Amino acid sequence: MDKIKLATVWLAGCSGCHMSFLDLDEWLIDLAERVEVVFSPVACDRKDYPEGVDLCLIEGAVANLDNLELLHQVRDRTRILVSFGDCAIHANVPGMRNLWGAESAAAVLERGYLELADTTPQLPNEPGIVPPLLNRVTPIHELVAIEHYLPGCPPPADRIRSLLQALLDQQTPPHSGRDLLKF
Ligand code: SF4
Repeated sequence: MDKIKLATVWLAGCSGCHMSFLDLDEWLIDLAERVEVVFSPVACDRKDYPEGVDLCLIEGAVANLDNLELLHQVRDRTRILVSFGDCAIHANVPGMRNLWGAESAAAVLERGYLELADTTPQLPNEPGIVPPLLNRVTPIHELVAIEHYLPGCPPPADRIRSLLQALLDQQTPPHSGRDLLKF
C-alpha cells in the first residue's frame, strides 16, 4: 500500500504547534509506517514544497509576503489542508499587531528594529533580509479553502493524533469543521 504523503508547514507562528506534534512521542513510529514525510521544518531540510501532497498541517497565520506565496503554493499542491492551531485559525498572537490597523507593519518594524535595538538601530533595508510585512495578519481560511481545523494554542498531542488517525483511516475527524470558527 502506498504511503500517504504528509507535510507540515510553519508560517507566522512560534513553532509550538510543531512541538506539540513531536509530543506524539512513540505514536510517531506508528505514523511513520503509514506516511512519508515529504516536507516539514522538523523532519527534512527541503526548501521547495513538493507536488502531490496528500495531507498538510499548516501552522501560523499569514503575516508577510513569503507566508502568502507559500500558502498558495501549498494549497495548489495539497489534497487535504488542516489549519493547525489558533494562529492559523484566528491569527492569535501574531494577529495582535492588527490593533495598529493599516500602520501595523511599520509599527512592528519600528518597535523591533529601532526602539528595542541595543546597538545601531536601523530598519532592515536589504531585500531578502526581512520579507515584506503585510499590514494585516490573516487567518489562513480567509485566503484559501481549508478541509479541517485543529484548534488549540497549541493543539494537544492527543487531539492531533485523533485527527490524523481518522484521516489515515479515511474517516471524518470529529469536531474539525468550520463550526469551530464560531466560538
Ligand atoms: Fe505558537 Fe500557539 Fe500559535 Fe501554535 S497556536 S504557533 S503554539 S502561539
